[in-house]
Amino acid sequence: MRTDVLGVGFDNLTLTEAAATGAALADADGFHYAVTPNPEFILAARKDPQFRQVLQQAHLVLPDGVGVIHSAKILGRPLKGRVPGIEFAQALMAWMASHGKRLFLLGAKPGVAELAAARLKSAYPGLIVCGTHDGYFKEDGPVVEEIRAAAADVVFVCLGAPKQEFWMVKNGPATGAHLMVGLGGSLDVFAG
Ligand code: UDP
Repeated sequence: MRTDVLGVGFDNLTLTEAAATGAALADADGFHYAVTPNPEFILAARKDPQFRQVLQQAHLVLPDGVGVIHSAKILGRPLKGRVPGIEFAQALMAWMASHGKRLFLLGAKPGVAELAAARLKSAYPGLIVCGTHDGYFKEDGPVVEEIRAAAADVVFVCLGAPKQEFWMVKNGPATGAHLMVGLGGSLDVFAG
């Protein structure tokens, strides 16, 4: 049962619980995707039923912002706490590094994902970054093929919302990845 906050259902999990769920999804057969809605997502979902559906059908819906937590509390359905996308990604990478899982970084301006990969590999010794691609491409096909060829288990999809959520749903299954996470501007942050 998800906790409804103004039309978007959230998983009521701590960061540790969310990371464990993400790890289980990355380990499981088939394709899964996680979203990290903030209040802007909620407003966008109210205007766009397709976006709302994409959020609802996600395997993991994490409350990214303090605004979501406050709204949930006011509505009388408090959530355990904020699970910022960046912190979720960090916890997942720590697990990936110790389990030999392969991470692909997709998004941001040319050069940013490569820089983020270098920083992340030194922050999480053993982390396998199996590929990177910038977020300014015209055709999905070659990018899907690159992710598939890289045998990625997990893909951080950082194209901004709602583009990244629609992209994951449309292209995720064909990539062979087990978990995609929509993470907005995170690669810019990881690149420092
Ligand atoms: N971005 C991208 N392709 C696009 C549009 C945006 O890769 O077609 C990237 C952009 O470079 C930035 C990220 O998406 O790194 C997220 O941008 P923003 O901060 O606007 O998104 P938010 O975090 O608010 O969802």
